[in-house]
Amino acid sequence: MDIRSVGIVGAGQMGNGIAHVFSLAGYDVLLSDISQDSLDKAVALIDRNIERQVSRGKTTAEAKSDAMGRIKTTLKLPELGNCDLIIEAATERETVKQAIFDDLLPHLLPHTILTSNTSSISITRLASRTDRPEKFMGFHFMNPVPVMQLVELIRGIATDRETYDTLLGVVGKLGKTAASAEDFPAFIVNRILMPMINEAVYTLYEGVGSVRSIDESLKLGANHPMGPLELADFIGLDTCLAIMNVLHDGLADTKYRPCPLLTKYVEAGWLGRKTKRGFYDYRGEVPVPTR
Ligand code: NAD
Repeated sequence: MDIRSVGIVGAGQMGNGIAHVFSLAGYDVLLSDISQDSLDKAVALIDRNIERQVSRGKTTAEAKSDAMGRIKTTLKLPELGNCDLIIEAATERETVKQAIFDDLLPHLLPHTILTSNTSSISITRLASRTDRPEKFMGFHFMNPVPVMQLVELIRGIATDRETYDTLLGVVGKLGKTAASAEDFPAFIVNRILMPMINEAVYTLYEGVGSVRSIDESLKLGANHPMGPLELADFIGLDTCLAIMNVLHDGLADTKYRPCPLLTKYVEAGWLGRKTKRGFYDYRGEVPVPTR
């Protein structure tokens, strides 16, 4: 199937990155959110990020201007109804995603492929509540989308071959690499990554190491480009907690128990970089540990 237009729901960290890569690859993009402020910030950020790519010689000023011209925004979800492909990238909460699909379904064209960028929620369950489980898939981009090479493709139990092949073609057109994952909680990347981050939070909680020593240890001792706590702040602590809860509930194994300290940060509204405080405080010139 030929995909030309893409509707993206949610203009947060992931939504804006997804809009960025699709518009640069030549797709028409309609980006929606419940907040005009999020939409305005997303467009300004995409402009800045593509400008940086121009200054590094990774793209041209002309390609940037064409890409920016292909991005439209809306607060009205039904306007996404004419798109060939929908990528839901709203908050990691099943009730939020469910409500979005419920509102969107009556407006979709019959051929439209419906996808979710969820990090952990069951694709089969999300798909089963739509009118097109065979045209529903997990389309999991990594953060930051313009930089990260991988896209996980997750088929629900009913997803058909044509839908999978179409998305595989889209990933190729974006210049990225697809990995297929089965539809089990958190798929591949987060099934492995999140328990590591959660264990880093336990290491802090139990006083085994400080924020700095934990991050330094994994950077210098395991050659990770970012420490796990730094990475958690980057991902968003609410998203990390939501994924741990999905692993814990879905696999019913105590090894996935979210660290109480992670829960406490989320309760405090310290969600990481996006709220300027998490394991580090980002309000000054350089990030400093908050404990
Ligand atoms: P975010 O908090 O940065 O952005 C979420 C956006 O969704 C916000 O702008 C919010 O206003 C919007 N939103 C909330 N309810 C909405 C609704 N009903 N309709 C339209 N928009 C709505 O979150 P994020 O980090 O961009 O995560 C989005 C999704 O991507 C989640 O499912 C998350 O699991 C997944 N994901 C996140 C990462 C990551 O590293 N942060 C990586 C891969 C996938």
